[in-house]
Amino acid sequence: MDKNIIYLDNASTTRPFDEVLETYEKANKEYFGNPSSIHFFGVESSNLFSKAKAQIQKYLKVEDYDLIYTSGATESINLAIMGYCLKNQNRGKHIITSVYEHPAVLESIKQLQDFYGFSITYLSIDNSGHISLDELQKAIKNDTILVSIMAVNNEIGSINNIKGIKEITSKYSKVCFFSDTTQAIGKIALDYSCLDMFVVSGHKIHGLKGTGCLLKRKNINLLPLNNGGGQQDGIRSGTIDVPGALSLAKAIRLNYESISDNFKKVSNFRDKISSFLKENHDKYEINSSFENPYIINFSTKHVKSSVVVEALSNKGIYVSSISACHSKKEKISYVVEELKHDKKLAMNTVRVSFSSDNNEEEISLFIKELQTIVGEIRND
Ligand code: PLP
Repeated sequence: MDKNIIYLDNASTTRPFDEVLETYEKANKEYFGNPSSIHFFGVESSNLFSKAKAQIQKYLKVEDYDLIYTSGATESINLAIMGYCLKNQNRGKHIITSVYEHPAVLESIKQLQDFYGFSITYLSIDNSGHISLDELQKAIKNDTILVSIMAVNNEIGSINNIKGIKEITSKYSKVCFFSDTTQAIGKIALDYSCLDMFVVSGHKIHGLKGTGCLLKRKNINLLPLNNGGGQQDGIRSGTIDVPGALSLAKAIRLNYESISDNFKKVSNFRDKISSFLKENHDKYEINSSFENPYIINFSTKHVKSSVVVEALSNKGIYVSSISACHSKKEKISYVVEELKHDKKLAMNTVRVSFSSDNNEEEISLFIKELQTIVGEIRND
């Protein structure tokens, strides 16, 4: 990476690790066989795919789950939600989700409502960014078949009580608990075996864009969304990207090998920035609860956050306002609006997100530049 840039937008995407790129290149050069071919070269490739899957399952401690390799979290989420609900709609047509899910979840569920007659209950969030277990319990009905609650919110970083949610959903045999775990994988120590289905995105953990997977319990049936040659047990047809799967397994291994060290490292960054924000509470409103050291979210009170983000960018410091996937079209963070019930704060959010790539010096420089920029400009 260019030594002169300070990249603090790791919840949006991360720098691929060199080892991941090497694995991908080597596999593409040496093992490019189609894993569906019955000749030796194909079988070799198929065996490598099985190894990659086993490694991912091992690190996530879900050896007995099915793994469907996909192009990332968005595809995995669509497959989980649409595939599960369409396949199981004879058992009920009610879905519970929350107001601050990623659009991949919200739009999939909306499609089920608009085109397939599902009804939806949206759980609210409290002022620390969590859903309420009481509200969830009350929302479950006779025809509820899916509860889709994210593990870690991508804008404010709050971590939901996955165990508590599972305790509720497991009382109902019809209810499947799916969680968008995109921002948790490789970063937060969670018990993924609490979940019936969950997802991985390679590029959020120093893997490659276009790599990811869906993990699900074996007894969960999905309607395929990609029809074709019947690869991956017919759930996701299309020639399998074995080098991509190997690169994903490598990224997961590297993240899990240093998950506690990385957590400690980024916790120091979080502490430094949170102290600064607290000391300057006249200028910044804190939106994160700081339980997740990887993501800090705050709103600027007297300056437009877009101006701050641009000024930082001009100095080679990259953070984000709202969420990268939709920051170009939306001017307001629906997540912060749900959290603070304040449009002005929701229009002026800044998200700073870390990875093990960052260092103390970068954090000090970020604070220094932020202080200068916010001190110089006043928009209200
Ligand atoms: N879910 C969450 C919580 C995310 O943060 C993102 C990416 O921003 C996604 C889903 C979509 O991930 P992908 O880019 O792998 O499709």
